[in-house]
Amino acid sequence: MLGDSGSVITPNAPRAGTKNIACAYRIATAPCRFGARAIIAAFFNPETYVWPSPGVGHALQNSMRVLVTGGAGYIGSVVAEQLVKDGHDTLVYDNLGKGHRGAVVEGAKFVEADLTDGEALRRAFVEQGTEAVIHMAADSIVGESVANPSKYYRNNVVAGLALLDVMNKCGVRRCVFSSTAAVYGEPRRQPVEETDPTRPTNPYGETKLAFEHALRWYECAYGIRYASLRYFNAAGATPDRGEAHDPESHLIPIVLQAAAGKRTHVEIHGADYPTRDGTCVRDYIHVADLARAHILALSILDQRSAIYNLGCGGDGYTVREVIGVAREVTGRDIATHTGPRRPGDPAVLIASSAKIRTELGWSPQFQDLRLIVESAWAWMQAHPYGYGK
Ligand code: UDP
Repeated sequence: MLGDSGSVITPNAPRAGTKNIACAYRIATAPCRFGARAIIAAFFNPETYVWPSPGVGHALQNSMRVLVTGGAGYIGSVVAEQLVKDGHDTLVYDNLGKGHRGAVVEGAKFVEADLTDGEALRRAFVEQGTEAVIHMAADSIVGESVANPSKYYRNNVVAGLALLDVMNKCGVRRCVFSSTAAVYGEPRRQPVEETDPTRPTNPYGETKLAFEHALRWYECAYGIRYASLRYFNAAGATPDRGEAHDPESHLIPIVLQAAAGKRTHVEIHGADYPTRDGTCVRDYIHVADLARAHILALSILDQRSAIYNLGCGGDGYTVREVIGVAREVTGRDIATHTGPRRPGDPAVLIASSAKIRTELGWSPQFQDLRLIVESAWAWMQAHPYGYGK
């Protein structure tokens, strides 16, 4: 089907050589029944792979028609994967600027177009009969945002407003938004709660916060309900989807690339922070746990809007601790160099996720960093070229 603007809505046909996804999720038992080793062994066995179970009493009762912007990206593709698995009519809308065609889940419709292409977006809404948007298309690299704020304001704010305006015109009144812990800047206390002050220290966080503010006013004026999910550090992989950025800037895939011999060493961005070993502390959350939260968040949008933090809490992990876990998981040596601080990096970011746990019954099921790193390592070994070749 060809849209006026040339965009094409295609059913996403099975790709040659891919596994039968339906069978990959056959066992829906919560993973706490198994030991950590058993869970990891299960990651690459389609017969035993276990998705995080829905939060108690808060799963969406009915199937919904959901458009996922950025659904060919790292987190968006896992969200789309869970939507399809849960029986929702799923349309991935992605310009493939950074996303991958091969990451688009089998069973979703796919439109390759830009958010600023209002006609393509309108046609997608009309043809799908979209009831809700999960908005994940964005630029998300802190350092790049400091060097090139123009790109971040255009892609995260201007394009986001274009989306909201077409949603409003088409009567789509539900939006789950992928926000970030970077809205908090350098928090005065840890763990960070949703009501804590938002003072971003880089354009990435600033542009995400600007869009959150727009959502608030669009709700007042036009009745668009929203759930802003402030992610802490997404990581890990499912059997078919993992992190494949080019260039890669995130710590865990970089560390694993060093373990795989694809880079000589890991550059530690600053070892003079006021933390337990001088390196930055982050709260890593498995991408499948993150994806589950989006589907839970859809369920509240008939009643209200909300903002939720998404992290695992606890003490978090320093950069050096992450490298240590990766050495254990891979059994490989990983060389490091200590360099200067990266502009815009806060010393510590740890979430309080008490609000989403209490209100939506969400809880992380891959909380241990070892599980996260093992899943990412398994994906990297099974997909040495990412989505290429
Ligand atoms: N980091 C690092 N070396 C790298 C990549 C990241 O030391 O090659 C650090 C980074 O400075 C931050 C932490 O690892 O303290 C997590 O960075 P990442 O880019 O993965 O996520 P962010 O916290 O920026 O969202």
